Amino acid sequence: MESEEEHDIGKIKVKVSGWKDLSLVDVIGEPSFTVWFNYCNFACPWCQNWLVVSGKKMTEILLMDLFKIIKQSELLVNYLHVTGGEPTLQGDALQELFNLVKKNSSLRTSLNTNGSNFRIIKNLIRRGLLDHIAMDIKAPLERPALYAKVIGLPKETTETFVRNIQDSVVMALNELSFVELRTTVVPGLLKGEDVLKIVEELIDMGINDRPGAYYVIQQFVPPNITPDPAFKELPRTPPETLIKLARSIKNRTGIKNILVRSMEEGVTII
Ligand code: SF4
Repeated sequence: MESEEEHDIGKIKVKVSGWKDLSLVDVIGEPSFTVWFNYCNFACPWCQNWLVVSGKKMTEILLMDLFKIIKQSELLVNYLHVTGGEPTLQGDALQELFNLVKKNSSLRTSLNTNGSNFRIIKNLIRRGLLDHIAMDIKAPLERPALYAKVIGLPKETTETFVRNIQDSVVMALNELSFVELRTTVVPGLLKGEDVLKIVEELIDMGINDRPGAYYVIQQFVPPNITPDPAFKELPRTPPETLIKLARSIKNRTGIKNILVRSMEEGVTII
C-alpha cells in the first residue's frame, strides 16, 4: 500500500522551462542532466534567462514524471543540476526532487542559485541533499547599492538578500566539498576592481582553505531577450579580456582556484 509520503510526492508539480539530457557546461568537469525551474526573485536588467524567469516558456510537470525522465539519463551523467531562474522559489519541489534522486538513483545533486534563499539552502545542506552548489556573486557583498543595480531591485530589499547570500556562501564553504562561486562580468555594471573586491571578500570567507571551492569569472553573452533591451545590444566580452583580468586578480590576491568560463574557450584554469 502507498505510504502517505509517497502519496503526497505523487501530487507535487513543478514549473520548468525545459531540460537537457546531457550538459557538459553546468558542473565543472562533470556531465549533468540539467533542468530549468521557472521564476526568480531578482530582476537583473541583463538577465540571460528571461524566458525562464518570466514564465513565458513554461511547462507544469508532475515531479514523479520529471524524475522518470531524469532516470533515463542515469547512465549518461553524474549529476542532476537544477538551475533557473531561481530554483529555491519552488523549494518544496526542489527538496523532494533531490530526495527522490538521492534515494532512487546513483546521481549526485547540484543547485545553481542566487544564494538569497538561505533557509532553503540550509535545509538542503543539513539534510544531506546537496553535493554541489554553484552560487552567483553578482557584485561585492559590501557594496549593496551596486548589488541592487546589478540585480534590478531597491537597495533596502537588496540589503536583506545580501546578508542571506553571505550566510549561504559561508555555509556552502564550510559544509560542502564542491562549491562554485560565479560572477558574470556585465559590461557597464561591473568593473575589474569590483571583481577584485569580490575575490578579496571570498578569501576573507575562507575560499582558499577549501580545495574543492572555485571562483569562476563568466563571460557576458548578450541574449535575444532582456528585461532592459539596452543589454541585448552589448557585445560579448572577449574571453582574453576575462583571462587577463583573472590572471591579474590571482597575482594580486593569491586566490588558489580561479577559472574563466566562456563560449569560445569553455573552462580556462588560471
Ligand atoms: S538571478 Fe538575475 S540573471 Fe539569474 S535568473 Fe534571476 S533575474 Fe536572471
